[in-house]
Amino acid sequence: MTSLSAEIDRRRDDLVALTSALIRIPTVNPPGDRYREICDFVADRLRPRFPSIEILRAEGAIGDVPNHPRWNVVARREGGRSGETVHFNSHHDVVEIGSGWTVDPFGGEVKDGRVYGRGACDMKGGLAASIVAAEAFIDLNPGFAGAIEISATADEETGGYGGVAWLAEKGYFSPQRVQHVIIPEPLNKNRICLGHRGVWWAEIETHGRIAHGSMPFLGDSAIRHMAALLGEIETTLYPALASRTTAMPVVPPLARQSTLNINSIHGGQPEPEEGYTGFPAPVVAHSARIVIDRRYLIEEKPTEVRQEVVDLLEKLKATRPGFSYELRDLWTIPPTMTDKAAPVVRAVDKAITQVLGLTPDYVVSPGTYDQKHIDRIGKLHNCIAYGPGILDLAHQPDEWVGIDDMLDSAKVMALALNDLLNQS
Ligand SMILES: [Zn+2]
Repeated sequence: MTSLSAEIDRRRDDLVALTSALIRIPTVNPPGDRYREICDFVADRLRPRFPSIEILRAEGAIGDVPNHPRWNVVARREGGRSGETVHFNSHHDVVEIGSGWTVDPFGGEVKDGRVYGRGACDMKGGLAASIVAAEAFIDLNPGFAGAIEISATADEETGGYGGVAWLAEKGYFSPQRVQHVIIPEPLNKNRICLGHRGVWWAEIETHGRIAHGSMPFLGDSAIRHMAALLGEIETTLYPALASRTTAMPVVPPLARQSTLNINSIHGGQPEPEEGYTGFPAPVVAHSARIVIDRRYLIEEKPTEVRQEVVDLLEKLKATRPGFSYELRDLWTIPPTMTDKAAPVVRAVDKAITQVLGLTPDYVVSPGTYDQKHIDRIGKLHNCIAYGPGILDLAHQPDEWVGIDDMLDSAKVMALALNDLLNQS
């Protein structure tokens, strides 16, 4: 253990340089810039120790277009004897820079013990830490049991369909190939993220009948019907959601319940076209729509989550004259939470205690990340997120990752490899 940790300390400059170099490739998504370049860069870096390297385009995936192909890299190294496979998966895309930066967002600048830039914490610092951890482990233990894989994948920020979802469809995350997955997202070096809440997105439309706005009694307002629905959501649904408790240790704690966000509302006359300077025409709204973003708990079933909303709508239909609606499902991702007894969890827990001298916190993410595809498509449940960086800094101006944090989490990753792949 000491020698692995010491070996990683010796690679401090290399880890910093690698993080900066990754930041300097601006893989902004959307639209998905420079994906091939970053995959080539990671492949070149890994080639000396990873004899099998595949650079794969997610052909046919959502988002894969000729001028912005979705590239992914998967590297694999077999040990000296048979055993299980540990896979580190990082997304290589970053979000737009936005405004408010005081450093070059793609400079990979190093100062005050930090590396700055878009993607520093989310999650090029994590990718770099996992690479250095795996390299140090391999160099000290070339005859390890099993195999190590490292992937850098596209499009996590836009749903992961051109990245992990596509790879999972192709079998890269099947339990026959891979037994343990660590996703080095910026969850803080002392925390193990076991999974995420579920999501159900849907669009609800209420119908009305158009008429002259001066005689609204001759029509039927879809907006008033929608208002009635919003009233029901406010008085019935929100209190019900807030009353539910969960065994999921979601952070922040306010997300430790079911939540519903009304993502958008549109009704009545459409927004006038750019350049139109006249008044609106007097009409009664014949249609109103909301999009809802419902996050749910492992204790809830997706069918019940949906039914609860259908019940509200049916109640209005039965009691409110003229009320009719359409409900369109947009997107569903079930919640997932890896068992605390899973070997990958035990190994990282033990390693955190060794490196940091404390017991780790267990958390669950309020929103989803690529674990959803590994769990749902790959059917691989031994997956966690663990990596350096402060989650609150993700997507912010002047994003940074602490160098000591990267070193510590690289040590944790290397010790976890030692635990999972070096048992006699
Ligand atoms: Zn991320």
